[in-house]
Amino acid sequence: MNQNPFIDQAMEMVKAQAGVKQMTPSEMVEMTREIAEGLAKLAAGGEEHAETVQKPFIDPKKAIRLNYVICVECGARFKVLSKKHLESHALTPDEYREKWGYKKGTSLVCKSLTQQRREKMASTKIWEKAGKKGKAAEKKPESKPSADK
Ligand SMILES: [Zn+2]
Repeated sequence: MNQNPFIDQAMEMVKAQAGVKQMTPSEMVEMTREIAEGLAKLAAGGEEHAETVQKPFIDPKKAIRLNYVICVECGARFKVLSKKHLESHALTPDEYREKWGYKKGTSLVCKSLTQQRREKMASTKIWEKAGKKGKAAEKKPESKPSADK
């Protein structure tokens, strides 16, 4: 069992308590233990949240690299940090972004892939434009039967 470094402090506090009200020895022991535990949790940074507040595996700002994305939750590397993987941490991509301070819509994809996608999208757009222009040019004005009499 680890010696709680706050036990002395806790004992002082219990002594003060025992001075103002009647306490049985077991009550004092119990109170000392509780205070020492509480102080230890406080020192660890936030009592109830001690377990839920989690240190990132890596600085989220450094997690998106050229050739891989590092999962801030577990340190695993991916080309694409998938929704499925995030589910294993009980997070949706949005929750993940929010949790680690990414901007909304940040793609959890390695930079080289993002770049490729961007290039692909850009060229797709060029083709789409060209395609639309072509079609528009092909479109013939409809010849309506003359309504004149
Ligand atoms: Zn992970």
